[in-house]
Amino acid sequence: MLNMESCVRRVLNGEVLAHAEALALLNLPDTDTLRLIDAAWQVRREYFQDRVKVNVLLNAKSGICAEDCHYCSQAKGADTDIARYRVMEPQEMLAQARQAEDLVAAEEIIKSAFATDVRPLLWKVRSDLNLSDPADPLRGFAESGYAQAKAEERGVGGGAGLGA
Ligand code: SF4
Repeated sequence: MLNMESCVRRVLNGEVLAHAEALALLNLPDTDTLRLIDAAWQVRREYFQDRVKVNVLLNAKSGICAEDCHYCSQAKGADTDIARYRVMEPQEMLAQARQAEDLVAAEEIIKSAFATDVRPLLWKVRSDLNLSDPADPLRGFAESGYAQAKAEERGVGGGAGLGA
């Protein structure tokens, strides 16, 4: 039979509970929940007093979620006072994660930036610049004659290939 008072006393004396005791605490029946909360409170109070840790969430995007779940304050149609902004630039998210010393978030941001498909953006930039064949720049380059012209200009043999 687990003696909770003994567990508390020993932990407060700096002992570490045995694995089996910790497991027994986790497996206590619901009827012991209040006793368990009281025991945890005694330990918390001893080690942390009234200190609290505040975690702040930073949303990559806020207030304009297109899924529009009607119960959610993040939904684009929600009538709330929360900030509304489009997806932050990875650099900005990274700066915020660094400021919060959140290495896990920083890693996630770098990974998501790495995994982001930038092809639609590149296609738009190429289109805006009126480059030939914005959907396939390599083909556009090969068909442009640029490589051939440069090869002739330099007096070297070359075709329309990329390596010319
Ligand atoms: S719950 Fe909120 S944040 Fe999640 S998908 Fe729905 S609207 Fe978007």
